[in-house]
Amino acid sequence: MSTKKRVMSGMRTTGALHIGRYFGALKNWIELQNDYECFFGAMDWHAMTNAYKRSEDMEKNAREILAEWIAFGIDPDKCTLFIQSQVPEHLELFMVFANLTPMGWLDRVPTWKDAIEDLKKEDAYNLGRFAYPVLQAVDIAIYKGDLVPVGQDQVAHLELSREIIRRFNGIYKKEVLPEPKPLLTETPMVYGTDGRKMSTSYGNVVPLIAEEKKLKKICNKMVTDPQRVRREDPGNPDVCPVYKFHKLVSTNEDLKWASEGCRSAGIGCGECKAKLFSNLNDLMAEPREKKKELLNNSGALDSIIAEGCQRAREEARETLKEVRGAMKFYSGVIN
Ligand code: SF4
Repeated sequence: MSTKKRVMSGMRTTGALHIGRYFGALKNWIELQNDYECFFGAMDWHAMTNAYKRSEDMEKNAREILAEWIAFGIDPDKCTLFIQSQVPEHLELFMVFANLTPMGWLDRVPTWKDAIEDLKKEDAYNLGRFAYPVLQAVDIAIYKGDLVPVGQDQVAHLELSREIIRRFNGIYKKEVLPEPKPLLTETPMVYGTDGRKMSTSYGNVVPLIAEEKKLKKICNKMVTDPQRVRREDPGNPDVCPVYKFHKLVSTNEDLKWASEGCRSAGIGCGECKAKLFSNLNDLMAEPREKKKELLNNSGALDSIIAEGCQRAREEARETLKEVRGAMKFYSGVIN
């Protein structure tokens, strides 16, 4: 048995990833896999809370994001990679947790209150979405996750999972499930092509993997410092979305070049965007090919997914056995 602490994390299967997911999570995962026993899930039940009318997209989406994780360096031999819906034990533990979670705990979740109006508009004001934090607690507990990588601003979200797990252990008087702790990670704020927070709903994302032509087009369309109207006007990189991307992917030398060239009007925005394109393209060039390879050779990807789901199921079954035992819930009669 591994002595490493166990890390659990996941991403919703809403489609191909954007670059914000790389800097917000994936980049950290790639480092964590060397020091921890990692479980990374493609969370399709979470995506289904508002994509239930597009259920046929889930498999494609899950395969795509798993291919992207691997293409960027997640190693299926070091981590357990799984698709949430293919480990049905999540739903059994969900039922256990749903019963012991008071409605008031969910009602107080700020992200629920803030989202209600938007959810109503997209016909997703539903029980599944309301109970989303319960399923999140399950996702961690079912693998006995010790640590969950989060940014400082997400620590409070994890607290509800901890409370649910603590309540389970308290009611059934057995420390079956570890209370997960936050593993604080650096997650820079990633802005979109228009300078607002990067979000698919704003249409301002840069895909994590894009073909060169498409990437060039995205870079060329990026908003710049609005005060820099003509080529000879000096600009302010601090307010420019293009420069914010440079800060994510460019070397110190390129940053200096862009910042000084902008302030002195020594470079034009076209040159600055061309450099950004080149640096972004360098980041995704190799993964782009690797992703293509994985999706074209579906047999190899299928076996990675099947093995990961199998490994995840074995862990989940063991946890459920202990859960039922602690609850004295048919233990000994079934399973
Ligand atoms: S030169 Fe670069 S940093 Fe300055 S406004 Fe143009 S795109 Fe932005």
